[in-house]
Amino acid sequence: MRVCVVGGGPAGMMAAISAAESKNTVTLIEQNDKLGKKLFLTGKGRCNLTNACPTEELFDNVVTNPKFLYSAFYDLDNAGTVEMFGRLGLATKVERGDRVFPKSDHSSSVIDVLKRELDRAGVDVRLRTRVTRIECSDDSISGVIINEKGSERSLECDAVIMATGGRSYPLTGSDGSSFRMLEDLGIKLVDCFPALVPFECDDCDITSMQGLALKNVEITVRSGKKTVYSGFGEMLFTHFGLSGPLILSASSYTQPSDYKKGITVSIDLKPALSAEELDKRILRDFAKGQNRDFANSLGELLPNKLISCVIKRTGIDRHKKVNLITKQERHRLCEILKGFEIKVTGNRGFDEAIITRGGVSTSSINPSTMESKSIKGLYFAGEMIDTDALTGGFNLQIAWSTGYLAGKCK
Ligand SMILES: Cc1cc2nc3c(=O)[nH]c(=O)nc-3n(C[C@H](O)[C@H](O)[C@H](O)COP(=O)(O)OP(=O)(O)OC[C@H]3O[C@@H](n4cnc5c(N)ncnc54)[C@H](O)[C@@H]3O)c2cc1C
Repeated sequence: MRVCVVGGGPAGMMAAISAAESKNTVTLIEQNDKLGKKLFLTGKGRCNLTNACPTEELFDNVVTNPKFLYSAFYDLDNAGTVEMFGRLGLATKVERGDRVFPKSDHSSSVIDVLKRELDRAGVDVRLRTRVTRIECSDDSISGVIINEKGSERSLECDAVIMATGGRSYPLTGSDGSSFRMLEDLGIKLVDCFPALVPFECDDCDITSMQGLALKNVEITVRSGKKTVYSGFGEMLFTHFGLSGPLILSASSYTQPSDYKKGITVSIDLKPALSAEELDKRILRDFAKGQNRDFANSLGELLPNKLISCVIKRTGIDRHKKVNLITKQERHRLCEILKGFEIKVTGNRGFDEAIITRGGVSTSSINPSTMESKSIKGLYFAGEMIDTDALTGGFNLQIAWSTGYLAGKCK
């Protein structure tokens, strides 16, 4: 078969390699002047290419439509991915949280081995070329229209694998424009929404703490009164609001409607202590200097940047001597430390979202082949499908697995 793969990101490159392995004649079309522009940025330039957890745990880390990925993950699972990259000449290592990285610590090594394999497999790679239309006859693929160096022409093929990404980090090429092509073909789409994205808040007491990283805290994220996420780990205060692993994960569990209802992040700054234990700890700290000002008594309990804001919220005069602080005031302090609340006003949008939620509806794709249920010979792979995962290498695993399965053009 003549197979045209659209999009030279991880999903597209893997699909092209897999299609060539299945003895097809493969053309890979990428609008950028190089392959894997977003892949280059992944893992802060180190590329967390997968996760070494037991295969079943991959599903626990997929937020949207995990069951859809059953065949794809079992066709090429995380161990299979590491093995495949090993065969292609990429040495890998496993770090904290089972995250797998190239031993070189450079995402370019991942791109290099893929490029080498595309070349070896005889894939015709066309850069600076954009697919502008997908052509069908009788609900079967007949070709694509490409724009190469400003001129449009058609390219006949028997199968098209769409791997054009979502809408996040649009400067890397995944600007979502190919969803319009699919809409024209009547493919069912789910509205796109930024996920794994930092939260904004307009409270200057919060934004003035920029640079403060909190480790070992527990957060509870509520939409109105409903808890949408709770987790333990690390978070970061920034000039616009909140970021860091816990916040990115939380964002993946919020819906657009949650922002209208009002999202609140409540931080338990001392999750290891019960309210009673915390009160005893505060009393011990106060006892170390009975005549100290309240503001000078919290240094062992809290990071410096947080102290002023906590004091303000307690309503206790910062110069009040600790031996004059009442039981009621101490309980108020405990309450704040166990539930430091921050109102979220929005998120940083697609420009800063690690991943896109939404895209091609999984209900319109055959999960055991990645083929469209309505158009024969049209396949999908990667982030453009309505499935997304948490950080840790799981999103790239989705790209490798769906790309590999789509490439078989079954
Ligand atoms: C900053 C950042 C860091 C990340 N780090 C990690 C990480 O460490 N681990 C992890 O698992 N995930 C990570 N991700 C997520 C991961 O990058 C994506 O899941 C992955 O890139 C999706 O692959 P894809 O091939 O589906 O799409 P993309 O990588 O977006 O590739 C799509 C390609 O299609 C091309 N294209 C689009 N339309 C057309 C067209 N009409 N014609 C021709 N070409 C077209 C685009 O130019 C683009 O190159 C990160 C994301 C970001 C933004």
